[in-house]
Amino acid sequence: MSSGETAASGARLAEAIPEAVRDLLTALWRDGHAAYVVGGALRDILAGRETSDTTDWDLATSALPEQTAALFDDAAYENRFGTVAVRRAGAEYQITTFRSDHDYADFRRPHRVEFGTSLAADLARRDFTMNALAWGAGPGEAGGGVGPRPGLVDPFDGVADIGARLIRAVGEPRTRFEEDALRIVRAIRFAATLGWTIEATTLDAIRATAPLVAHLSGERIAAELDKLLAADRPSVGLRLLADTGVLAAISPELAAQRGVAQNKVPGEDLWDHTVRTVDESANLPTVRLAALLHDIGKAATAADGHFYGHDSAGAVLADELLDRLHVPTTTRQRVVNLVRQHMFRYERTWGDPAVRRFLAKVGPDAVDDLFALREADNAGSGVPRDADDLGGFRARIAAELKGGAILDRSALTIDGSDLIEELDVPPGPEVGRILAALFERVVENPGLNDRHALLGLARDLVAGSAARPDATEET
Ligand code: ATP
Ligand code: MG
Repeated sequence: MSSGETAASGARLAEAIPEAVRDLLTALWRDGHAAYVVGGALRDILAGRETSDTTDWDLATSALPEQTAALFDDAAYENRFGTVAVRRAGAEYQITTFRSDHDYADFRRPHRVEFGTSLAADLARRDFTMNALAWGAGPGEAGGGVGPRPGLVDPFDGVADIGARLIRAVGEPRTRFEEDALRIVRAIRFAATLGWTIEATTLDAIRATAPLVAHLSGERIAAELDKLLAADRPSVGLRLLADTGVLAAISPELAAQRGVAQNKVPGEDLWDHTVRTVDESANLPTVRLAALLHDIGKAATAADGHFYGHDSAGAVLADELLDRLHVPTTTRQRVVNLVRQHMFRYERTWGDPAVRRFLAKVGPDAVDDLFALREADNAGSGVPRDADDLGGFRARIAAELKGGAILDRSALTIDGSDLIEELDVPPGPEVGRILAALFERVVENPGLNDRHALLGLARDLVAGSAARPDATEET
């Protein structure tokens, strides 16, 4: 890269970097520390991608964390890696002391992080050339204490790679992936979110080191997977994960989908279908995860061209995988429910009670996601998104919800304490059993949700006599 081009890029950054970020830099320099903008925001500006008010800005400084924290009264000292966070007007500024990493013994995180005073060392430990830029002072001026002067520091020709839309490891790719295998997943995540190409030797090193991904903690993988799935076309990343062997280290069940025949889109196998379904799905984290996992039970249940029970088998596998990835419990439960329910078959001939039973089974909160998943699954199967009379089913569900259909036990006009106090039911499982039976009756016939009627029905149940619902219907 010529010095002219570097200067031009520096000028471009100078224009795009907001006042709030400059203020932080200036305060640090005034206090006698070197300070630069680093990380993804620079890459995004130079790539012509929008930064917004909510962009996360990373700053690197020679100041020690305590010094940084003392300088800003709205700062919070965040973690043992020496990051101080400042949140102002919707944006987050992470100010991290220059560091160099040591002792990568287990392909995970450095065992020891050393605070240094060198910007050069700090940039050298970063993952990709596009992420190893700094802006804030001219080269050689670090620590000068004279305030940030517009200038770009680009020791690994990151600007050239950004121009060529190339993801290239800093230094020797294999060594860098062995130091921290998360970089393998990050390269693929960036390929998906940016739509860029992974440079050839970097890609070879990914293939060679892919199995190391199995050593990573679940939450680190999940954070990258989440970002990958939020890409415009996640398929770019998913195919790379599968083709390089990384997918097998994350989920052998998904990796096993390759080559499993399936008569949906001609010439496409089960993995092709999964990838297509994800691309076709609404860009919502839960729906995208469910799209990725909806057929995770198929490889294990494949027999004679059928996949009997793959929905319930898949729910178990999805639960295990998401648990391994430490995905938050509510997300995990929602996704597992979607996987379990994704095969629903609506018929126009269903009576209203059948619609209510469906709603009670899947849960009213899951309906939007479940329909979004089915639309994507349809499109991924080469049929119209709204096949299976989804529109008609939707309208009937809406009507039930509008009519206040009783869809969970808490909406019954009596509860467990009524059974215990009024009918002398002993506290314990019997209470739950009776409530479940009453709930079923009310889903069938909403008119029964009347305190008097339900107590009557409950009394019959307690007495062990099978009460006919129509006996109390008039009350
Ligand atoms: P995004 O726009 O997705 O936030 P980013 O580049 O800012 O992209 P972050 O995860 O926020 O990514 O990380 C900030 C910076 O920290 C990166 O630009 C990179 O320089 C460095 N970095 C993050 N993770 C690693 C890693 N595992 N190894 C080396 N450097 C890393
Ligand atoms: Mg970032």
